[in-house]
Amino acid sequence: MKQFIHIITTLFLLTSCQEKDKADVKEEYHSDERVVSSKYVGEEPTTPEATEIYEPVPPKVTLSEYKVPSDAIVLFDGAGLDEWVHVVDSSAAQWHIVGDGSMLVKDKSGDIMTKRNFGSMQLHIEWMSPKEVINEGQSRANSGIFIQQRYEIQIMDSNDNPTYTNGQVGAVYKQSIPLAMASVPSGEWNTYDIIYRAPEFENEKLVQPAYVTVFHNGVLIQNHFEIEGPVKYIGWPSYEAHGKAPIQLQDHGDNSRVSYRNIWVREL
Ligand code: MG
Repeated sequence: MKQFIHIITTLFLLTSCQEKDKADVKEEYHSDERVVSSKYVGEEPTTPEATEIYEPVPPKVTLSEYKVPSDAIVLFDGAGLDEWVHVVDSSAAQWHIVGDGSMLVKDKSGDIMTKRNFGSMQLHIEWMSPKEVINEGQSRANSGIFIQQRYEIQIMDSNDNPTYTNGQVGAVYKQSIPLAMASVPSGEWNTYDIIYRAPEFENEKLVQPAYVTVFHNGVLIQNHFEIEGPVKYIGWPSYEAHGKAPIQLQDHGDNSRVSYRNIWVREL
C-alpha cells in the first residue's frame, strides 16, 4: 500500500511539473500581441507591390583575382609595407617582406600599425604560424591584431598548445573565449574575417560599446561580442574615449615567426 501511494504521488508531481512547463512556454512564446517595427506606419499594405522597394540600389562590388573587393582599402598585398609604420616612432616598418606575397614579423623590432585610422570596418587578414614549432603556451607563435590599437584578436599557434582559453587563438584577449578552435595545421594559412563596430562616445562618456564578430577559416568564433574596453594584460578592462585609430599587428618578442598576407579593409 505504501509503495502504491508513493507511485501515485510521484505521478502527480511529474504531471504537475509538465503542466507548469507548458504554462511557462505559453506565457513566453504565445503572446497574442503582434509586434510590428516602428518604421511601418499607416494602413497595412494589401498588395505585394506595396512592400517592394527599388531605391537605393546597392553599389556593385566586384572581386579581384585574389578575391579582394573593389571597394576595399588594400593594406598589404605582398608588394611592400607602404601602408605601415612602427608603433613607437612611426618610422618605416621593418618587418620582412617575403617573396611569396607575405610578410614576416621581425622579432623584437616592435609592433607595426597602419598609417590610416579606422573606425567600424570589415577586415580580412591571412596569417600563418610556422611549421617548425618552438616554445609553449603564450610564447608559441603569438601575434595579434589590435583593432583601433586597443582591442586584440589573438593570433597564436593553439594546435596542441594549451593555454588560458581567453588568451588562445581567436580570443578577444582576456575578454572572450572563442566559440571554436578552427586553426589549420601549423605551417598552413589561416583567414580571419572580422566585422567590427567601433564604440561611440559623447562628451568622453561611452554611449555604445564596441562589438566584434570573427570568422576563423569561415567558422564563426566570435558572435557579435560586446567588447568591455581595451584589452589588459593585468587588471579589468574599461573604456576611455577615443576616435578612429590604426590597426596594429603585434610582435610578441619571443621569435613568433608569424607571417601575414592579403590584408584589406572595407570601412563601414
Ligand atoms: Mg597576442
